[in-house]
Amino acid sequence: MSETTEPGSYFVSNYPPFDRWNTDSVSAVRAAFAAPPAHVPLGLYLHIPFCRKRCKFCYFRVYTDKAAGDVERYTQGLVKEAELAAASPAVAGRELKYVYFGGGTPSFLSVRQLERLVDGLNNSFGWDNAEEVTFECEPGTLSEPKVKALRKLGMTRISLGVENFDDDILQANGRAHLSAEIMRAWDWIAAAGFPNTNVDLIAGMVGETDESWDATVSKTLELAPDSVTIYQMELPLNTTLVHDWKESGVPAPVADWPTKRAWVDRAFRRFEDAGYAVSSGYTLVKDPSRVAFRYRDMLWEGSDLIALGVASFGHLSGLHYQNEPHWDAYLEAVEAGTLPIARGMTPAPRERLIREMILQLKRGWLDVSRLREKFGVDLLTEWTDIWRGLEKEGHLTVTDGVPRLTRQGLLQVDSLLHRFFEPSPPQEQTAAS
Ligand code: SF4
Repeated sequence: MSETTEPGSYFVSNYPPFDRWNTDSVSAVRAAFAAPPAHVPLGLYLHIPFCRKRCKFCYFRVYTDKAAGDVERYTQGLVKEAELAAASPAVAGRELKYVYFGGGTPSFLSVRQLERLVDGLNNSFGWDNAEEVTFECEPGTLSEPKVKALRKLGMTRISLGVENFDDDILQANGRAHLSAEIMRAWDWIAAAGFPNTNVDLIAGMVGETDESWDATVSKTLELAPDSVTIYQMELPLNTTLVHDWKESGVPAPVADWPTKRAWVDRAFRRFEDAGYAVSSGYTLVKDPSRVAFRYRDMLWEGSDLIALGVASFGHLSGLHYQNEPHWDAYLEAVEAGTLPIARGMTPAPRERLIREMILQLKRGWLDVSRLREKFGVDLLTEWTDIWRGLEKEGHLTVTDGVPRLTRQGLLQVDSLLHRFFEPSPPQEQTAAS
């Protein structure tokens, strides 16, 4: 991997890669919904695609120009889609283990819109027994009544998209909020008594310096959230920063990878000094005996995930799928009473193993016996050369049969995972060429 931050995606969120998902697999996904359920935990993801402003590094499906009527139509679409999914044989009667409101900006919705949405969802899915209900917030969209309403509606984990505390940096990266809004929102969140609070940061936004990064870490330590998630700035192709780079010929001024890793390393150390424990290449938690991240852990261990919303990604009975990625196509499908599935992928058993192995490696270690029991494969002998290579490079140690990333390996885990990727099957290569 180049040491400079080049245009392209770095973060590995799934396997096999999205370029192997296709429309041919939609019928297999529909058949999975119509078949009996898999015996795995069930989660629900809702994509709320509205934002006040598009961040310059954003690569998600978001809309910044929708009127109240559009938002109402969309949330009713989510309710309808929930009804359709919950009535399918693969989902009917199952209890949700976790729920995730992501985006976009879920906190863009007003209290009234949220109440109507949750009311509607409750007719299909109850989450009284869910272990975790996460809700992502953008600081500037919160108000005290909204934060109280979120608690009352059953959210257990609030994730605040802070990213940085420096107003110049927030503005240079197109964020909609400033630092004063973060502090105000945090007071309301802390007072509302959520079981789990998380702060999201990004190391290496445009304009970041050693001083600004250290100040951001200090301020986050003062807030003392239950967990902190730190991403390293990347430049996916469909971001404003990359478009501007291409148009002007001037590279986006984002720090190189060694600098970003050094910043995250420094942050990890400071949080560890304050009593936090590292729980993945991106996350630290204050009290691991009390605070977990069930969405992440269950998803990485192969749970089902029903995806609601435009362009949303789901996983059912071992199959991947994505919803219609465009507003009209998504809404027309759900309003016509059809699950809005646009593409899918049926991983082979070995690909399912690779998926779970690489996602779980992001935690920093692997439960080899659990994966052996589930897939009948011994990871250490199956990929001996890769483990040896990683050890030689100082990214990993294997002790008592447990592969464990070193700090150096953990801080660049996404760049290491491609070694486990397999070439596409020949018929797919032909079809794609
Ligand atoms: S708040 Fe998040 S989803 Fe919205 S534009 Fe910014 S990065 Fe994208």
